[in-house]
Amino acid sequence: MSATTIPDYGTLGQRAAAGLKPKGLSDEQKIARAKQAFIAGIDADMATYLESCIHCGMCAEACHFYLGTHEAKYTPIFKTEPLKKVYRREVAPMRLFNRLTTRDLTIADLEDWKELAYDSCTQCGRCSLLCPMGIHIQSMIQVVRNGLAAAGMAPAELQAVSDEQRDKATILGAGPDKLRETVERVRAQGIDVPLDKDKADVMVLSSALDFLKDEKLLASTARIMNKIGANWTIRSDGFESANFGALSGDKQAQKRISKRVIDAAVATGAKKVIVAECGHAYPVLRWEAATLYGKELPFEFFSVAEYFGQEAKAGRLKLKKPSGEAAHVTFHDPCKLGRMGGSFDEARELLAALGVKLTEMESHGRTNLCCGGGGGVSMLQSAQKLRNAAFELKREEVERTGAPTVVTACNTCMQTLEKGKEWLNWDKDIVNLVQLVSENLD
Ligand code: SF4
Ligand code: SF4
Repeated sequence: MSATTIPDYGTLGQRAAAGLKPKGLSDEQKIARAKQAFIAGIDADMATYLESCIHCGMCAEACHFYLGTHEAKYTPIFKTEPLKKVYRREVAPMRLFNRLTTRDLTIADLEDWKELAYDSCTQCGRCSLLCPMGIHIQSMIQVVRNGLAAAGMAPAELQAVSDEQRDKATILGAGPDKLRETVERVRAQGIDVPLDKDKADVMVLSSALDFLKDEKLLASTARIMNKIGANWTIRSDGFESANFGALSGDKQAQKRISKRVIDAAVATGAKKVIVAECGHAYPVLRWEAATLYGKELPFEFFSVAEYFGQEAKAGRLKLKKPSGEAAHVTFHDPCKLGRMGGSFDEARELLAALGVKLTEMESHGRTNLCCGGGGGVSMLQSAQKLRNAAFELKREEVERTGAPTVVTACNTCMQTLEKGKEWLNWDKDIVNLVQLVSENLD
């Protein structure tokens, strides 16, 4: 089967970055803003993490960027050094003494850590899983991103799209109008899409990143929702899964972007909100949105794989076996759905319902190796070499399964695997789960 064509995020990111206006901050202002954001991010958990490292180095062996390059600077905990420095000098109980032994944060530190916090971290969480001290390293790296973003030093690709999404509710120019156009194209195929219903039990999210190029993913999702017989809608005032505020590290933007989805879901009275195949969107909405919103939400977030997997398990979604190469697959667990969301079984329920042969990779489920493109890394041209190094590890694991098809449930993973395939002229089919399910409804 043919895979869904998705836009090249790197090219799109560069296009957006060209329009970014610099914030015009002096070095002193940048340092002051970064410090302020670091200090704001150091709560009791963060302080405990900052005090707990025993320097065992095990996190290095977990990180695909270290494993792919063997460069010490890609050791996960090292990526948090600027935060540690500010903690030691400004927050730690021994701060007065620490000021004698720990150098103050400099603009060079911030410049140097830009690559470490953005290009070399997909926020995959594998390091945190393997740290014997339970240090949540990726959250610490996110605080480093928050500091860099506050200093106006987030990568231009991510900051430009974050600003656009915060202010205009569009991504690379695609917003509600583009959604309406896409819905019309799906309807022209004879597939019903209940757009902007006042009330519905289930609200489905999509992403401009999906429909910038074509309507295949929205059509696939709609076909499955209709087959299940759900009372569902997609809302033009709150349909976007992706959150470039989270990717850039701009907390205020993240909050405003999440709020659009929450407001639309509250207005429809939905009990379930289904997040599109967009990795980072899942933890951002499922684990962080309510905190940023400031109160409990009257609905639950599910990923599409999770929701459809539960429907298949309950017998409401019947599937038939695909033919050809798709009859033997391996599954790439998106880090944000699996390791950070606990959703491993549902995708496998769907593969079982499809009756395909599943051969697991050596690292799968909780210990799955990241594809190398998450956390906004797929949009950074500067991260190309690192992405390739990480992809090599993934490719070797896929090769050992002997499966001709790789299925995944995240468009960023999909894009990263597709780019790797193109780079190496790889003979594997890369397929997203929603499309595979939609093409094999019984
Ligand atoms: S979260 Fe993933 S990419 Fe980031 S440092 Fe940890 S293992 Fe590496
Ligand atoms: S694995 Fe944990 S304790 Fe060991 S070096 Fe990394 S952060 Fe420190």
